Amino acid sequence: MSRKSRSGRHTIEGSPLAQSVMRHLAISLATAAVLATIFTAWTPAGLSPSELAGQLAAALEGSPTEEASFYFPSTGSIDPSELTIGVVVGHSGPHPDTGYVDPGTQCSDGLTELMINQAVGDLVKSMLEAAGLKVDLLEEWDDRLAGYRVVALVSIHADSCLPSGEYATGYKVAAAVETKVQDKAQRLVACMVDRYGRATDLRYHQYSITLDMTEYHTFREIHPQTPAVIIETGFMYLDREFLTKHRDAVARGITDGILCYVNNEPADLDWED
Ligand SMILES: [Zn+2]
Repeated sequence: MSRKSRSGRHTIEGSPLAQSVMRHLAISLATAAVLATIFTAWTPAGLSPSELAGQLAAALEGSPTEEASFYFPSTGSIDPSELTIGVVVGHSGPHPDTGYVDPGTQCSDGLTELMINQAVGDLVKSMLEAAGLKVDLLEEWDDRLAGYRVVALVSIHADSCLPSGEYATGYKVAAAVETKVQDKAQRLVACMVDRYGRATDLRYHQYSITLDMTEYHTFREIHPQTPAVIIETGFMYLDREFLTKHRDAVARGITDGILCYVNNEPADLDWED
């Protein structure tokens, strides 16, 4: 698939504050590929439980300060199916205070962001399970998110349905600015950006990520050692056809991003081309 449709990613958009946040993230991203090989030097999916346990032990020995970085069972052998991925279906479920389900962005004809997020989330769950991982499908305000500790967490969202010009197309991925596992979170971002772009051929909105994304409430609820990202899968106006008719590709992109991270695969971002 051609990647030229992503060539518009240097376009400057958003507020100066958002831009400065994104410059910070972009610098972290540039080092993410290098950090990847250091910090996630193990490969669960293709290994037997005993091989995996050996790799984990070796990785921990070689990097004592990373001791608490990955969650895995403390006793017995490690099975890939015990590695849990959290998938939040953006806007699903009631708000704990109001009981109201906010369906997110809404189009004038009734299409809601929640409909897209739910369909994609369900597909991502099946795809990750087919790859041998355990998946928690979570609601936006899920009780389980308090202190939630897993290998990785991804929250699925979609962008505005307003007809706001030719640039309102493409996807965004962001991690929390204030995370205790910056290296892992940025590597997860790098994997998601790369694999989602490849699976969908959508444009990456590098400079239009907002504080709503980097200060997303879920990032404050989960365990500080859980690397987490939020993805805006596309714009509901210009990318509508893709988001509603090519959900397999949307879900495949998210799934491949998570597998890239878990399997320690390289993420090729070639930012400066
Ligand atoms: Zn949303």
